[in-house]
Amino acid sequence: PSDAVEVKKRVLLLKPRGFCAGVVRAIDIVKIALDTFGAPIYVRREIVHNRFVVNELAEKGAIFVHEIEEVPEGQRVIYSAHGVSPAVREASRTRRLKVIDATCPLVTKVHVEAVKFAKQGYSLILIGHRDHDEIEGTLGEAPEATQVVSSAEEVESLVVPDPNRVAYLTQTTLSLDEARDIIHALKVKFPNIAGPHTQDICYATENRQVAVRNVADGADLVLVVGSTNSSNSNRLVEVSNNLGTQAYLIDNSAAIDPKWLEGADTVAVTAGASAPEVLVEDVINYLQRNGYSSVEEVEVMPENVRFGLPPEIVQAIGGAG
Ligand code: SF4
Repeated sequence: PSDAVEVKKRVLLLKPRGFCAGVVRAIDIVKIALDTFGAPIYVRREIVHNRFVVNELAEKGAIFVHEIEEVPEGQRVIYSAHGVSPAVREASRTRRLKVIDATCPLVTKVHVEAVKFAKQGYSLILIGHRDHDEIEGTLGEAPEATQVVSSAEEVESLVVPDPNRVAYLTQTTLSLDEARDIIHALKVKFPNIAGPHTQDICYATENRQVAVRNVADGADLVLVVGSTNSSNSNRLVEVSNNLGTQAYLIDNSAAIDPKWLEGADTVAVTAGASAPEVLVEDVINYLQRNGYSSVEEVEVMPENVRFGLPPEIVQAIGGAG
């Protein structure tokens, strides 16, 4: 018909997206350590959960290992942003390793809470994903006192010595909705349960989820740039899917299936806290080549968080002049 309007295909680029302060800090630590001390520098686990970032640092000379036992005695090792358990710290001492700690300060905060509650005789319920590096580290602070739950259903079967002396903590990168449901189930089961002063889900996880929630309704498709093992990136996909807007997690533009774009006039693009901006640019370029002529940045809230470097690095830079 002559009155048919040509639909303009457009991209909504969400802000805040991508790197958080903890990831920037962790990557800076590895780069500065390589520049200052030279290779080899060992890194326990992926410094942040992004394949591109890890490969780039490996090319610069970082050696990624799974366990401390793989680091030769007396060498320098960096702990990843997700934190480590006391058992890992002990293993480093035994091997006389020079440790640089890139644990995000917001993860350390949860460790401190775990130690505090455990010392006060609480049974700890840690809300999170058992196979995630962060949970492995936090759980290790008080393994005898702590149980991990990943869903509201699991709360029902919890058994604790004293139901009036229970506290909960959470992983920093959970879904806000899911965490709220699990905390609610815990409060029903243990009405006197204690918790952190402010929630443990970090600002970056929260802000990226709120941004997706704000635009999901107005988009036909949401693309989340991030690696498959990135917890906060997976949660962004879930937030959108739960709102009824199909979302996919992609490492880069090569992972986009052209079928996803059929009938998708408005595509929202965001990135998990460990995904570098260069990969977002790659996705935007792909969409522009495929007819998405307009790219509009949608800033849902400002974000200006920065963390200082750890003393090991500050001293090293000072020492190096
Ligand atoms: Fe820290 Fe949150 Fe970033 Fe994890 S996602 S490194 S907790 S700021």
